[in-house]
Amino acid sequence: MSKFWSKRTHELDPYTPGEQPQNQQYIKLNTNENPYPPSPKAIDAMRAAADEDMRLYPDPMAKSLKQAVADFYDLDVSEVFVGNSSDEVLAHTFVALLKKDKPLFFPDISYGFYPAYCGLFNIETTRIPLADDFTINPQDYAADNGGIIFPNPNAPSGIALSLADIEKILMANQDVVVVIDEAYIDFGGETAVPLINKYPNLLITQTFSKSRSLAGLRVGFAMGQADLINGLERVKNSFNSYPLDRAAIAGATASIKDKVYFDETCQKIINTRDKVSKALEQMDFSVLPSQANFVFAKPNKADAEKLYLDLKAAGVLVRYFNSPRIAGYLRITIGTDADMDVFLEKLAMLT
Ligand SMILES: *Cc1c(COP(=O)(O)O)cnc(C)c1O
Repeated sequence: MSKFWSKRTHELDPYTPGEQPQNQQYIKLNTNENPYPPSPKAIDAMRAAADEDMRLYPDPMAKSLKQAVADFYDLDVSEVFVGNSSDEVLAHTFVALLKKDKPLFFPDISYGFYPAYCGLFNIETTRIPLADDFTINPQDYAADNGGIIFPNPNAPSGIALSLADIEKILMANQDVVVVIDEAYIDFGGETAVPLINKYPNLLITQTFSKSRSLAGLRVGFAMGQADLINGLERVKNSFNSYPLDRAAIAGATASIKDKVYFDETCQKIINTRDKVSKALEQMDFSVLPSQANFVFAKPNKADAEKLYLDLKAAGVLVRYFNSPRIAGYLRITIGTDADMDVFLEKLAMLT
């Protein structure tokens, strides 16, 4: 408590990020970082950007990056918004498009930042329970609301929703914005980008943090029809006109242009994920079908929280959420094959 804080600050319930230990060496399988380095071309571009021009402000519109994203997805540059992480892009989205007189709908189990933003921006919410198998039922979203947001694939379940089901939600909600948070889409899900032409109420967000190995750079983007993008620009230009620095624009642009490296690293993670899922099942875990760079798994004969603590003591960090419905599960980020071998070895000793 502080007499200097505003009432809103007292009332906030901030998001808790996964642990980022700064000294001890862990095998880090807790925050869905990519185990492979960024594209060497991205690193070269960032090094080259660290020159005398740093005295100058960057391009406030980050046009080169927007164009590279537009080229990658075959969109017009007016259909792309970029920001300093997809969390920031989401924050602008909540203010620009989701703060309405009716409640925002999102799944009861999904990304922890959504309720944090609703608290910060004073947005009313309705949490829609996932089915018992942790899937989204499109019919549950056909009710009066002020907007809809969910990750696809969902987090922390890793379960993807089909484009047919996404279209059902878009069709039933033509007067509000439906935001699909595609933070994990590159690990096997099907992007909704081809639906943008057809649905003026569709906004898609993505990040360079997961599939492009650039969590440290903080770059995210949104795609939708120009009308939605213009709304985001208005909010962004009322908050920070230069969210992306010169190095970030250069690195992210080079990264998205290097499709060969991207495809290769995504495929390696997919292969490792499928191997780890099978191994976990053989060790008597229930593993949800994942299209992400993590698996959500429940030890059938052990206590998940104890296992999380024991793994940590053994030098392997995974994520445990002490919340209703998922307290029996661990979220395990997919690392390299070597990381996962160590993880499975430690697990075998502990269970
Ligand atoms: C990681 C993640 C983000 C945030 O990505 P950043 O660009 O690093 O802020 C957004 N949504 C979901 C569902 C995520 O898991």
